[in-house]
Amino acid sequence: MATDYLPLAPMKTGLRGLCPRCGQGHLFDGFLTLKKSCEVCNLDYSFADPADGPAFFVICFACVPSVLLAVWLEVAHEASIWAQVFITGPFMLLTCIPPLRPLKGWLVASQYFYKAQEGQLDTNEKP
Ligand SMILES: [Zn+2]
Repeated sequence: MATDYLPLAPMKTGLRGLCPRCGQGHLFDGFLTLKKSCEVCNLDYSFADPADGPAFFVICFACVPSVLLAVWLEVAHEASIWAQVFITGPFMLLTCIPPLRPLKGWLVASQYFYKAQEGQLDTNEKP
């Protein structure tokens, strides 16, 4: 039952890809694919919908070093296009791809922790 579990901080579970309820099972089946449920506590992960959240954070924050590197190479060293391809390209991949998984885990764990879900109409009539 959900009441048997103490609340776990999303930063502790999500960043490590662990179940937001028990903190022992795993969230991911592969690099970014979520499992159907936790193998330890059977929490159904169908509530999880981070959508474009991880990509948004990567675009906003992790891409900045890549752009700064590309601009610095161009301005300070007049780097050729091949220098940009072989230096900035791999650097961009290294700063953008690895953060996706912990960010997705953190967003899913936060969604569970804060009970975030789509808005629903209250159809109960007021007395
Ligand atoms: Zn679990």
